[in-house]
Amino acid sequence: MLDSAVTSKSGMVTKVHTRIRTDLFKNNYDLVGKELGRGKFAVVKKCVEKSTGQERAAKFLRKRRKGQDCRGDILNEIAVLEAAKANPYVVGLHDVYETSTEIILVLEFAAGGEIFNQCVADNDEAFTEKDVIRLARQILMGVAFLHWNNVVHLDLKPQNILLTSAQPLGDIRIVDFGLSRCVDATSELREILGTPEYVAPEILNYEPISTATDMWSIGVLTYVMLTGESPFLGEEKQETFLNISQVNVDYSQDVFHGVSALAVDFIQSLLQKNPRKRATAEECLDHPWLNTHLTSLAAPTMPDEQEASQSESEPESPAPSLGLVSPPYPTYPTYPAQGELKAGRDAFSFSEPFPTRTDIQPELIC
Ligand code: ADP
Ligand code: MG
Repeated sequence: MLDSAVTSKSGMVTKVHTRIRTDLFKNNYDLVGKELGRGKFAVVKKCVEKSTGQERAAKFLRKRRKGQDCRGDILNEIAVLEAAKANPYVVGLHDVYETSTEIILVLEFAAGGEIFNQCVADNDEAFTEKDVIRLARQILMGVAFLHWNNVVHLDLKPQNILLTSAQPLGDIRIVDFGLSRCVDATSELREILGTPEYVAPEILNYEPISTATDMWSIGVLTYVMLTGESPFLGEEKQETFLNISQVNVDYSQDVFHGVSALAVDFIQSLLQKNPRKRATAEECLDHPWLNTHLTSLAAPTMPDEQEASQSESEPESPAPSLGLVSPPYPTYPTYPAQGELKAGRDAFSFSEPFPTRTDIQPELIC
């Protein structure tokens, strides 16, 4: 568990164990290809480690933001990555460099890019419900691990869930722990942060943040993965916020045609206004949608097929390190679900691109 002695009042952890290198990044890595992504204070580029030829992603984070020293925020991001090292669904951290203006995180390279791309893809490339079940299980195993260790991500959205490969569809890697916080019984955390479409009602109401806050975002994420539509997105941010606080969600067949009733039930268990009524990550992993054959939609699969699919999609969680505890369910069997039914969508229906962190209002905390 993260040591609360090293957490500040705001739930940030600033004690890191990784050696922060001050030699030159470019002596050890070559930048290759174009940028992988960019946020308000960070740019991510592909690179190759000279000594091994391994591909990596280098996240260059500015230490000064809006005239303030934000080194502590970056240390918090590093501390959380360290804490989650034992979980295969959280992106790996290999190296950290510091210059006078930046900190560079050398991360495991997720070659498949953001799941966002498939969320908004046309039918042929869109996820099937079976894909979503497998990926949702992986996201939940990663998030359950964080929650088990009192860490909340607070920015779960399709841009922060990456794939090891896109075709064939690989496994997920959770990235971007820039807003992550440590939550424990002794300190109460209330902050205004997140991305409008994905934030939970309690964030808008300035009520306490908890692991349930992430579970709301997983509900939104699953909705988007299955339907290609963003459940709360309005024309204006205020409309989005109103839709969230009223839990104004369309579960009609228009949106969910071709999607199982169990999937809808799963989403409904998460999009509950009262955080205490929301399913936890562990409860989600036990939900029938993620565990049963959808017999009306799929032919039964032989046990050896189940084994084969498990090895590919759900690597064994290595032993926990750094004193962190693992959830009591290191691996779950992968169950076959429905056939290659495409998640219900006619066409991608976002009115505009998802907002980036730069669009966030109210403003992010530093
Ligand atoms: P920000 O805090 O600016 O949102 P992220 O950590 O989310 O930074 O990185 C921005 C984008 O860069 C991601 O949405 C993704 O597209 C890309 N990216 C980040 N990490 C990796 C990685 N390890 N492998 C491949 N692409 C990455
Ligand atoms: Mg991000």
